[in-house]
Amino acid sequence: MTIVAPADAAAIARAATILREGGLVAFPTETVYGLGADATQAWAVARIYDAKDRPSFNPLIAHVADLEAARREAILPELALRLAAAFWPGPLTIVAPVAPGGAVCDLVRAGLPSVAVRAPAHPIAQALIAALGRPIAAPSANRSGHVSPVTAAHVAEDLSGRVDMILDGGRTAAGLESTIVSFCEGSPILLRPGAIAREAIEKILGEKLAAPAHTEILAPGMTPSHYAPAARLRLEALDLNEGEAALDFGARLAARAKPGAFVLDLSPSGDLVEAAANLFAHLREFDARQIANVAVAHIPERGLGEAINDRLRRASAPKLN
Ligand code: AMP
Ligand code: MG
Repeated sequence: MTIVAPADAAAIARAATILREGGLVAFPTETVYGLGADATQAWAVARIYDAKDRPSFNPLIAHVADLEAARREAILPELALRLAAAFWPGPLTIVAPVAPGGAVCDLVRAGLPSVAVRAPAHPIAQALIAALGRPIAAPSANRSGHVSPVTAAHVAEDLSGRVDMILDGGRTAAGLESTIVSFCEGSPILLRPGAIAREAIEKILGEKLAAPAHTEILAPGMTPSHYAPAARLRLEALDLNEGEAALDFGARLAARAKPGAFVLDLSPSGDLVEAAANLFAHLREFDARQIANVAVAHIPERGLGEAINDRLRRASAPKLN
């Protein structure tokens, strides 16, 4: 059941409670309607991908209250601070290295060591973030491949029955997405043009924005925008070879593993939302243990299984070096 309510104080308080309990709330921003979840709960974030039918895990933007909240999540260099001072609150997203102790979960970051933060200007978005007291992960509130919604009715058309609540704040102003600038390389990079013009940003920076490097064609899984583990993954495994660890699903491989084999299960009960929530943490765990070879159980290609398999295929592609 999806509650649709005008975004008054009572509705915003209720929405914050829903988010805190791991639910999904669509809400207006100054760009388009966002599909929000508590950015600190991987389970809740996995439900975003499920609701949108997203076939892959692209990193999401964490919406924060202000610069102070952003600095708890991201290490912002001097130039990023200048942009924040000039354009926040507003439709500017800054990508920067994750701050130690940051609360945004790894599924929001798609496993990357960087995080995208934005302090939106819309009063309803601000009130919701303040009421939750945590960052809200939110892509646009539409099914994958559909156009971004600028009214609550558009959101309902796509997501009714798939989200817990839609906060109706009327038509959003811009309809354009936020401009995304990355500070992960030496100089600032324009990752996505958007509601704030490149020229306005370059004026504040006092330098030109670089274009993103097109490393996408080198090899899937090796691009800076995709997290890839060091371990070699063998997909669709039916049992374990000598010396392999296992990434299991529904306890399929565990039953056939030799005693002492290292097995992590994405979801012992075979729940794809739980599996998505665990995916990046489990992959990192293999790397942390310096495990070289991992057998991966079959994961059904339905629901979130599609996005999980997409990421595993990228992660198992031959490495260049
Ligand atoms: P949307 O949710 O449609 O506003 O899109 C979010 C955009 O932010 C996508 O294009 C992502 O690729 C980008 N993004 C979010 N986090 C990161 C990150 N850590 N590194 C690079 N790009 C990011
Ligand atoms: Mg979108």
